Amino acid sequence: MSEHKKLTLCVFIDALGWELIRRHAFLDDIMKVKAPLGTIFGYSSTCDPTILTGVLPREHGHFTFFAYRPEKSPFGWYKYFGLLPKSIMERGRVRSKFSRIMKRVHGFTGYFQLYNMPFRYLNLFDYMERHNIFEPGGINGGQATIFDYLRKNRIPYCRPEGYNEAESVAEVEAAITEGSIRFSYLFLGRLDGLLHEFGTQAPVIGEHLAWYDKQIRNLYNVACQKYDSVRLMVFSDHGMSDIHSVSDVKGRIDALGLTFGEDYAAVYDSTMARFWFLKPGSRERIESVLAEIPDGRLMPSDELADYGCDFPGNTYGETFFLMNPGVLLCPSHMGIKPLAGMHGYAPQHPDSVASFMTNEPLEPMPNRLENLYVLMRGETPENPD
Ligand SMILES: [Zn+2]
Repeated sequence: MSEHKKLTLCVFIDALGWELIRRHAFLDDIMKVKAPLGTIFGYSSTCDPTILTGVLPREHGHFTFFAYRPEKSPFGWYKYFGLLPKSIMERGRVRSKFSRIMKRVHGFTGYFQLYNMPFRYLNLFDYMERHNIFEPGGINGGQATIFDYLRKNRIPYCRPEGYNEAESVAEVEAAITEGSIRFSYLFLGRLDGLLHEFGTQAPVIGEHLAWYDKQIRNLYNVACQKYDSVRLMVFSDHGMSDIHSVSDVKGRIDALGLTFGEDYAAVYDSTMARFWFLKPGSRERIESVLAEIPDGRLMPSDELADYGCDFPGNTYGETFFLMNPGVLLCPSHMGIKPLAGMHGYAPQHPDSVASFMTNEPLEPMPNRLENLYVLMRGETPENPD
């Protein structure tokens, strides 16, 4: 008698929030279960390691890309580029090219982008995703990922590495047709880019969801022909908020006249500002300015602890200032142009919530991103019969 062939087909769709799933038809006849899935405070750079390891940010050590750690900065001599004309060095294309070269020079295998981080301050900051999180040893905290588990147990899987969605779908389809894999993890990232550019209400969002529906439906049907049972799971890391206004937090801090790198250091992300205080008195002056900004709020330390973002040694900042949903911190170290959509606000806000769906009922259901690791492991037992 031939063995029972089972396939677990995971599809990760970046920024497919619960609010989008509520508004659009999406694999309605296949997915028996659709549910909101709690997100993690931060961006994909902290959500994805949480999904892959099942632990919270304070343990896996990934949060955002830049952290004030001059003693560990790999960018010592880049400050000299800060002497070149701003008109050249702030161009997006120039910075993207620099990012590619720097990634090679430093041997980074993870995602690397300079964004809008000024060259003159780079020597103060460490880059926190130096390694590819999907490869062995890629997690800062040393945890094993679901892929380490699959490799260790010699469970055959398919995980396309490219960013071209049609090519990734084709790669998974070929692996399913061949019939020897037991697990697949398809990463689809285009929706996130479309939502940033056009917002959640644009027609292109519905069109792209319809394209996803068609592709995933086809993969599922092919899998059902090749395998005795198929577990299809589609999930995301976070949702998306439409931007209604921008707030120049950086301008207000700059106006204090404190010296960056001597009195304080800061990273201005798109939805939060994080501060390190280097001289007595800086904290009081900066926090009093922040407290007057109506578009956001200072985050209490117990709230950060609830989110699993109480990092040892305050790696990612001593004070966090979080924007209200829909307010973009701009200009920031992430960009100078306003966007139509952004994520990285309070995780409990409805627009932040991620989504989870599957073709067969499941017990227990995942509540938050860190539950997906155990779920994926449970789907691929070490000793199948
Ligand atoms: Zn995004």
